[in-house]
This record gives sequence, structure tokens and C-alpha cells, in this order.
Amino acid sequence: MSESRIFLSLPKLSGEEQKYIQNALNDNWITSGGPNVDDFEKDLEEYLDEDVSIAALNSGTSAIHLALILLGVKSGDEVICQSMTFSASANPILYQGAIPIFVDSESETWNICPENLETAIKDRISKGKKPKAIITVHLYGMPYKIDEVHAVADKFEIPIVEDSAEALGSSYKGKKCGTFGDFGIFSFNGNKIITTSSGGVLISHSKKSKDKAIFYATQSKDKAVHYQHSEIGYNYRMSNVCAGIGRGQMKILNENLKIKKENHNFYCNAFKDTEGITVFRNLNKDYDSNYWLTTILTEPTSANSRDILLEIFENANIETRPLWKPMHLQPLFREFPYYGNGISEDLFERGLCMPSGSSLTDYEKSRIKVVIDKL
Ligand SMILES: *Cc1c(COP(=O)(O)O)cnc(C)c1O
Repeated sequence: MSESRIFLSLPKLSGEEQKYIQNALNDNWITSGGPNVDDFEKDLEEYLDEDVSIAALNSGTSAIHLALILLGVKSGDEVICQSMTFSASANPILYQGAIPIFVDSESETWNICPENLETAIKDRISKGKKPKAIITVHLYGMPYKIDEVHAVADKFEIPIVEDSAEALGSSYKGKKCGTFGDFGIFSFNGNKIITTSSGGVLISHSKKSKDKAIFYATQSKDKAVHYQHSEIGYNYRMSNVCAGIGRGQMKILNENLKIKKENHNFYCNAFKDTEGITVFRNLNKDYDSNYWLTTILTEPTSANSRDILLEIFENANIETRPLWKPMHLQPLFREFPYYGNGISEDLFERGLCMPSGSSLTDYEKSRIKVVIDKL
């Protein structure tokens, strides 16, 4: 194969990362916590422009885990989770020995369906247990139906953990994703909107929650000169070197977001006349997706079905991927309760993620366009 591979989502550097990493090296502050970590937290708090407190951690998964701990989720408790998501949304439920209850998506934002959510909550309560928390997700950066979902959660007084791993820079009615839930999280894994190589943050609405999260993330050390512990601790804090990368990445956050939208526009135009294909987009003006990945829906019976497209792009050395496989279909989670009517299964069968990296070049786009034009 002569042409190089076009990947789904590669990171892009601002060039300033080096400076902040060098600061960490110069200070000999290579361990977790430190000046870059404090400043990275401040950068993000300013960016979100809401009354939030941010704790920087070593992954988005750790952030979800700590959110559940802070909400008091314990062994045997039930936690509701959007089924269509990456497994990292649901795994922390199992870390706590709790029971995941999966809820289907609706077809307009592909995220947790408010009606099925209400059905699930009522049924769990009738069976004797009120769910301890709800994990919602903004899949591919698309905000979920925030008003409707939060109305249900409020009615039953169940806290929300807002998994915004893919939604940095997305907003709903002008308010940024990550700030809606009782807790929110971002991920800075290599494929996300910005990266710290590996990392994440927990977003809370009080300094007290932030401090408690950092306490757990640094091995739950009680106040004493010797090492004294009365609670389970974790090694979850972000490293000062990684936070240096994050500080450099903040310089191009807005540029990355602009490129993601340009990528999405590119696909909207390229697929305009392709039979049986629709590009996933904002439902209405309330929604502002960051289009972390541009995704499309195919018609299973058409000549351009998902599997045929996968193969056609693969033959041109262009990476595409099916959508997240719903958790209730996963061998690990199959035995747990699920409430839905097949929307996420249908999306999984029909959907495809297109190359959407912030480092996607014009030349790569032209290669993708050539393939699309032949469909
Ligand atoms: C990436 C991702 C996570 C996990 O983030 P890590 O930083 O990789 O641990 C969680 N939820 C969703 C939806 C994600 O896409």
C-alpha cells in the first residue's frame, strides 16, 4: 500500500508543551501534583467560566471512580449508566462492587433516553432499591437532552455524574458541558480534544469536594507526620510532567475546536449526495457539539452499508470505526439489567466514525473525498 494510513483521531501539539515540561524538569518536580498541575486546574476553571472546582487526575476513568466514591456508592448499590458509551463510563461501578443498570439512547442525540431513564428508576425503586447515581454521557461530543434528563434525575433526587470525556468545548444553551452534573469529568487521553498523554479531571461544585477528591487520589493520608490512613486511598493524581503537556495544549484548545467543526463541515459537504448516508449533527440551536468525531449513519440494506464502507475505506488505508458497542451487549455486562427499546443496538449496527483528528491535513481530506465521491 503506497499511501500512508489516515487515523481516526491523532493528537496535535502547540509547540508550547516543551516549555512547561522543561519547567517541571528544572524545578525537579517530576512527581504528582505541583505547579503545572495547579495552573492547569486554574486554566480549565477559567475556561469553563462557571463556579466549579477542578481536581486533575491521571485519567478520566479515575475521575468517574472518585465521583462515585464521593457520592457514597458502595458494594451492592445500583448505579444507572447510559448503555451506549465507552466501557470506561461503566467500569468504575464495578470497582465499587456496585451494580450497573443500563439505559438505552434516544435517536436524536444518541445519548441516554429520558423516558427509559424514568422507567428504569421507577422499576428499580419498585424492586426495592433506589439508584445511587446516574452516569450520563455526551457521546462524540453531542450534548445529551440535558433539560429532560436532569428533570427526571431531580424528580427522584438522584445525583448525576456527567461523563464529558469526549465533550470538552461542547455546550448546551450556551453553558459548557462538564458543568451540569453534580460531578463532571474530562479525559485527556491521546485521542481526545486535548491531551496530557494520559489524564483527566473531576469537576465539582465545591472546594470541599475537590479537596476530598485530591485526598482520595493521593492515598487518603490523614493529617499526621507519620503515614496514617483511615480510608481506602488511590494513586490517581495527575503528574506535574503530564500537566505541563496539558498547559501547552490549552493554547490550542480553541483552534482544535475550530478544526473539529471544519472537519464536520467537510463531511457534511462530501456526503451531501451519497445515497443512504446521513451525517450526525446538532438537533437544534440549543445544542453545540464539539464534533470530537464526525459520525455517519448508513442504511443496512443499501449498497453503502456500514460493513461495506468499513472495507472500502480500509482498502484506501483510511481508518473508520463502528460506533461504541452498547454495554448491555458486552460479555462483561450482559447479565446486568437493561431498559430500552433497541435504539442503541440499531445505531451500533448502522453507525461509523470518520477520521476527525485536529491534525487531519487537506491532503488527507482530499484522499477521503476521492473515496466518498466513488460511493
Ligand atoms: C475516553 C473516555 C473515558 C475515559 O477516559 P480515560 O482518560 O481514557 O480514562 C470515559 N468515558 C468516555 C465516554 C470516553 O470516551
